[in-house]
Amino acid sequence: MNILFIGPPGSGKGTQSKLLQDQYGVVHLSTGDMFRTAIAQKTEVGIEAKGFMDRGEYVPDAVVINLIRDRLKQPDIKMGFILDGFPRTEPQAVALDQLLEELGLKLGGVFFFDVNKDLLVKRLSGRRTCKNCNRVISLDQLGTPIANERCQKNPVGPCEFYQRDDDRADVVEKRIDVYQKQTTPVIDHYRKNKNFVHLNGAQNPKEVFKLIDAKIRAS
Ligand code: ADP
Ligand code: ZN
Repeated sequence: MNILFIGPPGSGKGTQSKLLQDQYGVVHLSTGDMFRTAIAQKTEVGIEAKGFMDRGEYVPDAVVINLIRDRLKQPDIKMGFILDGFPRTEPQAVALDQLLEELGLKLGGVFFFDVNKDLLVKRLSGRRTCKNCNRVISLDQLGTPIANERCQKNPVGPCEFYQRDDDRADVVEKRIDVYQKQTTPVIDHYRKNKNFVHLNGAQNPKEVFKLIDAKIRAS
């Protein structure tokens, strides 16, 4: 099962990825998470990506495509994967088509998470992310049992939540603009795919998961 999630920042792709990962054991490939790890480790890719990310801009296509090309060649990809946040531009979509063909892989589902801008801004500015495992909660969940669940990357303690630099209000607006300009063509690229599903991402995560799961079981 190889799946693509497309949608604006804050539309719930990461949340659904984690649910699917738990249910099916597929590999979650978030280019955003991969860049944040690269930044923390001060690798060449991380140093290159950081400025773009802090400004809410996309990292250049060549950098992202190389990152994904290397990752899709790893052996664990055979378990199935979710691509979360890639492709985000038309050239990335074309490159992915070629890469999948080259590797003999197929997409079993392409899910478009549709959410209006007001809700995105609200979700992103109230979002807190675990610095170890990238789990996401909302501000009003801090201090509740959900927030205190054990961290998957830090088995001796709970998650450690912080606000991502690019989740601050001014950068959030910019990211949504960049998405609308650059990623709308990607949705059209996949609309004709027989496994394309248009989801209402404003629903609660459990409802969205039911829809995705039903589609996966049916295909
Ligand atoms: P979100 O989906 O909430 O915007 P991500 O964690 O997926 O957050 O991405 C954070 C940032 O990483 C993006 O704003 C962008 O700078 C960079 N990035 C991630 N994926 C891509 C991509 N496919 N192409 C270009 N830049 C990317
Ligand atoms: Zn965590």
